[in-house]
Amino acid sequence: MDKRKQQRFGGPIRGRFAPSPSGRMHLGNLFAALLAWLDIRSLGGEMLLRMEDLDPQRCHQAYIEQLAEDLLWLGLDWDLGWKPGQAEFCQSQRGAYYQRAFDKLAAEGLVYPCYCSRKELLAASAPHAADGARVYDGHCRNLTEQERETLAAKRRRPAWRVQVPVKEISFTDGCFGVQSQRLDRDCGDFILRRSDGVFAYQLAVAEDDGRMGITRVVRGWDLLSSTPRQIWLLEQLGYQPPSYCHIPLLLSRDGRRLAKRDGDPDMGVLRARTTPEALTGYLAWLAHLLPKPEPLRPRDLIAGFSWEKVGREDRFVGKFSAL
Ligand code: GLU
Ligand code: ZN
Repeated sequence: MDKRKQQRFGGPIRGRFAPSPSGRMHLGNLFAALLAWLDIRSLGGEMLLRMEDLDPQRCHQAYIEQLAEDLLWLGLDWDLGWKPGQAEFCQSQRGAYYQRAFDKLAAEGLVYPCYCSRKELLAASAPHAADGARVYDGHCRNLTEQERETLAAKRRRPAWRVQVPVKEISFTDGCFGVQSQRLDRDCGDFILRRSDGVFAYQLAVAEDDGRMGITRVVRGWDLLSSTPRQIWLLEQLGYQPPSYCHIPLLLSRDGRRLAKRDGDPDMGVLRARTTPEALTGYLAWLAHLLPKPEPLRPRDLIAGFSWEKVGREDRFVGKFSAL
């Protein structure tokens, strides 16, 4: 066991909120935040807040403080991580860590530039069997130096991919049970750094979860298929992967995932319409933690919390009639 793993062994149980400050939170974000908080509080662990503001085109400083304030309004607190003026828990400020992780993988010969355009990628890759995502065919993996120079001279800026091994990654999800993915076949060489220089979510989240000592990850099942590559990255970087619990999603009545951009009510609307207690009760009812929505505080749910109650089915959210 390497040194870093030893330090982690027997360390604190630690979970995280990892919101993207690309707008105000909607009901689905709150649902995930409440369950992540209940998981950690029911285990007596520590909660950390990290702002996932990697993408400068989507994320704005103004949303960061609002996000923290909205979590506190609902009654969800944290012990570590972001607080006003503590920008080191914003991914936008953590480039040096991602660079170090990137360099470590590159030093092992696992990183290569990919010059493919979006069009070429679509033409060459096959949809992933499970989730419709595309598996890169490895086209640029074996380019010669000369071919790389020719492509670079055409002023195509490359993205950077990591070469995945022929390896099956398995883990037991707290909600979805045993999961398995063959990295080469089901995932393919994936992007670590975009052609505009922004580090990819997969690299940032693996490095951060590892470095921040996260032992429990609770998040929507839309990220279930990303988990094997994050586990693999964590291991490559010398960290012990956390345990994962992927949770049901909230869907609109027509079966869409709730999303800020589709105009689903955000915290601004919800806060104007209801109280923290009523909203918590509604979320707890959606989570099957209450037989009917009734006003209470998140802390009132800790004692009765269990993952068995939550289950796996996505929830349809009507017109918020319960609020
Ligand atoms: N920042 C991501 C989101 O807001 C969550 C990433 C994660 O939990 O790993 O959807
Ligand atoms: Zn390529």
